[in-house]
Amino acid sequence: MSELVLETQKLDKVYKLGGRQVRALSDVNLQVKKGDFISIMGPSGCGKTTLLNMLGCLDKPTYGKVVLDGVDITKVPEKRLFKIRKYKVGFVFQTFNLMPYLNAIENVELPMEGTKKSGDEKKKRARELLKMVGLSEREEHRQHRLSAGEQQRVAIARALANNPAIVLADEPTGNLDSKTGSEIVRLLGQLNIDQRTTIVMVTHDGHMAARAGRMLFLSDGRLLAKEKQGTHLLKKELICPYCGREIQPDDTFCPRCGKRL
Ligand code: ADP
Ligand code: MG
Repeated sequence: MSELVLETQKLDKVYKLGGRQVRALSDVNLQVKKGDFISIMGPSGCGKTTLLNMLGCLDKPTYGKVVLDGVDITKVPEKRLFKIRKYKVGFVFQTFNLMPYLNAIENVELPMEGTKKSGDEKKKRARELLKMVGLSEREEHRQHRLSAGEQQRVAIARALANNPAIVLADEPTGNLDSKTGSEIVRLLGQLNIDQRTTIVMVTHDGHMAARAGRMLFLSDGRLLAKEKQGTHLLKKELICPYCGREIQPDDTFCPRCGKRL
């Protein structure tokens, strides 16, 4: 059986707002295996950010368990949670959240502050990560000299800095045009295949959600029983084994290299 990286059991979150209670999550039971690329789709206000905040130990549930890499993080005292957040989880946000006064490479180095890595090792790792997201040419650029898509690529590289058990992406394409958004989801898919990065992405965008491996649906704080297969793994199979070019399901011969499929 595949290794579980993350599991929630009967997760509830109730916010108290003045005298009113808002139930943002109800009985959420989620299992994420190592190497999964999962999307959770639902409309604005359905609880997506609340769920990611619980998964990434940015906030505690009202009831239920979150087991991350074998540890029930709902039982971990606040002062130790910081380490779990730093080493086990990589966050990607809708608004990128780069440090504007740091350049791309310094932003990627930031999560490695306080680790055992030397300055040179941090720089080397940050360089490798920027290369992985296709930004070797932009190492010295600060936020104002990066396009929105490039900023999100830096944010993805930063999320991977400490080799986390899981990457949590909250509407990672929400501030991008559809072409750039599509490239960002493709990059996440590529990292999932090449690096075996485990990813949970929440989004209100059905097209982006469909590009993951598994699509789950959140409605009024509840995870629906239905689940769909996304195109991610199908795409992987729809590549010519001889030349690597994308092919269509009904191609008999590869349109580029001409080999019989
Ligand atoms: P989504 O990310 O899907 O748009 P959220 O998780 O942000 O949804 O919100 C889910 C519900 O919880 C909404 O009704 C929202 O108004 C409410 N909510 C979110 N955060 C808070 C908070 N800190 N205090 C009170 N209510 C909140
Ligand atoms: Mg949200």
